[in-house]
Amino acid sequence: MKYVSTRGNAPELSFEDVLLTGLAADGGLYVPKHVPHFSLEEIESWRDLPYTELAHKVIYPYVEGSIEADALQRMIDEAYSVFGHSAIAPLQQLDHNEYVLELFHGPTLAFKDFALQLLGRLLDHVLERRNEKVVIMGATSGDTGSAAIEGTKACNNVDIFILHPHGKVSDVQRRQMTTVQGDNIHNIAIEGNFDQAQDMVKASFRDQQFLQGERKLVAVNSINWARIMAQIVYYFYASLNLGGPLRSMAFSVPTGNFGDIFAGYMARKMGLPIEQLVIATNSNDVLHRLMSSNLYEVKPLQHTITPSMDIAVSSNFERLLFDLYDHNGEAMASLMEQMNQRDQAVELDGDRLAKAREVFDSYAVDESLTVKTIQSVFADTGYLLDPHTAVGVEAARQTRRNQRIPMITLGTAHPVKFEQAIQQAGFPTPPLPHHLADLMEREERVTVLPAELDTVQQFIADTVL
Ligand SMILES: *Cc1c(COP(=O)(O)O)cnc(C)c1O
Repeated sequence: MKYVSTRGNAPELSFEDVLLTGLAADGGLYVPKHVPHFSLEEIESWRDLPYTELAHKVIYPYVEGSIEADALQRMIDEAYSVFGHSAIAPLQQLDHNEYVLELFHGPTLAFKDFALQLLGRLLDHVLERRNEKVVIMGATSGDTGSAAIEGTKACNNVDIFILHPHGKVSDVQRRQMTTVQGDNIHNIAIEGNFDQAQDMVKASFRDQQFLQGERKLVAVNSINWARIMAQIVYYFYASLNLGGPLRSMAFSVPTGNFGDIFAGYMARKMGLPIEQLVIATNSNDVLHRLMSSNLYEVKPLQHTITPSMDIAVSSNFERLLFDLYDHNGEAMASLMEQMNQRDQAVELDGDRLAKAREVFDSYAVDESLTVKTIQSVFADTGYLLDPHTAVGVEAARQTRRNQRIPMITLGTAHPVKFEQAIQQAGFPTPPLPHHLADLMEREERVTVLPAELDTVQQFIADTVL
């Protein structure tokens, strides 16, 4: 498989090189040049496969030429063996034809484990073969950092540096990062806010001189294609477990950077019958405003009780636009230039937006409605939703097109991670799952640094030597 940039002006790369690259040289995101397509008969023949075998069917075409088939299967088996539920992605029924797909049985209790457990293994495999080592650098306000650390702790060829804002991450989330043992894991608490940490990471990717040319930086946020790829699998898994592909499905996805829901769009392009995809946002609703009124206008970030969806811009939306604009890199480059000028609103071509609306609906759920949804679902079913999943369930109910089609909300996190919202809804915090029961007693390892680029870069350079 070859990969091309959404802005049409960067070299075509193999999967292996895309895995080791962040943004394309022209500022775009890498996408597969051709989408593998499967017939209904073929998808139907996967109906009884366990998650790990299904994952191989879905993922292999994307890595073909870079990763051997049996090595891929071994890495998939290992990645999902650490999950705490043997179905990997079990379904929970809420109502007639209404489900939650539980994606929080991985080591850090959020869906990001699905991609990052596999990504760490793919990286190490490729680097071993090339006899290279890399540095992962990322900033986090929560879920991404811990999932990336858990996914790379066993890697021999990767050092990982995760920056978080000192004192501004919940105890559970911080400890999920700082208590992981491994000489290649480095937590940095920045005396500043998340944006300062993020800016230092971006500046470091732009100019990697500080690493003295020995190693390069690899990105593990959802601009990395491998993350999207791994997330396509569970759309197939959920559908096949509910009678697909002979019946169509609808999915509602708690959305931040548009990575998870873009994986659903890819599943549909690969031939899985998906009738509706719901973009569920919190009050950071830039995509809902675009979908409903065709105005793209960036507003200041709001901090909510669903922090993993707090974004001002959704970077993966560019991947959808590339498809809607018929893979025209030149048109994309100029559209993205307009969209990145934050001081003016941008309109999309009406026909292209209409094409998106054929499958996408959107809805923005504010904090009080999120809390009410947690309460009402618990009252009706005894099932406790995390606040992100509650946003998805509410948006699904508000936008549902067809009651006869199963509506599946992606359950993106375990409620224990988001104590504040659970308390606001009037419930005691649920106990930590077994494998994290002693989290609050484990030893922490973290270096506190001032929010100064030079100091942080010097620390990284000294540490990897
Ligand atoms: C990351 C995250 C999201 C948002 O996913 P995107 O791929 O960025 O749209 C939603 N919920 C939870 C719990 C997350 O950790």
